Amino acid sequence: MLDQEFERIGGRLFLEGLVGASFGNMSVRAEGGFYITRSGAYLDAREMPVFVPDGGEAPDGASSEYRVHRAVYRAAPHRAIVHAHPVHAVAASFNTDSIKPIDSEGRIFCPEIPVVEGEPGTDEIAQNVSEALRNHPVTIVRGHGTFAASETLDEAYIYTSIAEYACRILLLSGRLRRVL
Ligand SMILES: [Zn+2]
Repeated sequence: MLDQEFERIGGRLFLEGLVGASFGNMSVRAEGGFYITRSGAYLDAREMPVFVPDGGEAPDGASSEYRVHRAVYRAAPHRAIVHAHPVHAVAASFNTDSIKPIDSEGRIFCPEIPVVEGEPGTDEIAQNVSEALRNHPVTIVRGHGTFAASETLDEAYIYTSIAEYACRILLLSGRLRRVL
């Protein structure tokens, strides 16, 4: 069931501190559109996500960032997206336009994490994130959070976790000391 799957992944995001309060959102592709978490929903609560069609207006209740998700699905054949607010990834994003992990998992699974600009709810963020996710599994919107896209919610969550871990290592190792 979709609501259980969203709850399971949302629980993991909370457990690792990748989101707080009612921030973040997730979606999965479906026939003619995608299912996305509700606006203001706690990601670890069991709630049925909202269906957003590929074109036209989104229904009331859909996450306000549905435009970013729609743009990502249009630009590449991804099937699931996780948007989170991981602290170290956001801190690292002020320092560079491209993060190069130095830890083993980061180097293997996301050797380059692009950092993009864009205020929430704008066309700019939708365009920049969808462009970055055409060739990378995860990107960071500067000062805001991560967007990860893949085949499944599990994979998109894992990329989010790997990106946060990589940024934490970079900051703790002193490679990004300038921002601290
Ligand atoms: Zn956000």
